Amino acid sequence: MPAIKPTCIRDLKFRVNIVDVVSRAATLKKAGARFKGLCPFHQEKSPSFHVNPDRGSYKCFGCGKAGDIIAFVQETEQLNFVEAIEALGQRFGVPIEYEEGSGPTREGRSLRQEIFDLHEVAAEHFHQALKASAATGDYMTLGAYAGIGVH
Ligand code: ZN
Repeated sequence: MPAIKPTCIRDLKFRVNIVDVVSRAATLKKAGARFKGLCPFHQEKSPSFHVNPDRGSYKCFGCGKAGDIIAFVQETEQLNFVEAIEALGQRFGVPIEYEEGSGPTREGRSLRQEIFDLHEVAAEHFHQALKASAATGDYMTLGAYAGIGVH
């Protein structure tokens, strides 16, 4: 099973609104800062299924089901963890990044393209960092620049 980068999972959770995900399987009504509706996991007549968009989480006070966007897709669409992330990425236009060597070749290529694009955008900053580190001999500056910036 391919491993998905933790940064990518974090990014996905950040970019995808859980309300949009849950709305495919349940009708939600706004209730203050949260949303609630009839639970998609058990039969009920009054809504006890709560969604918190700020935390990106859901919880049913009737049957106790709780989780995030990934758990929701896993539960409602019978997918495994990686499949759920891939489905969400495709649905919401978030590119999925795999750990080195574990992803399909196609994804590897698009990831390299993304790094290339990033490098282009960051080229000027990188150039400044190079100059700065050449002046001070501080390679940590370079490391810091290489480590940041992937979203
Ligand atoms: Zn429930």
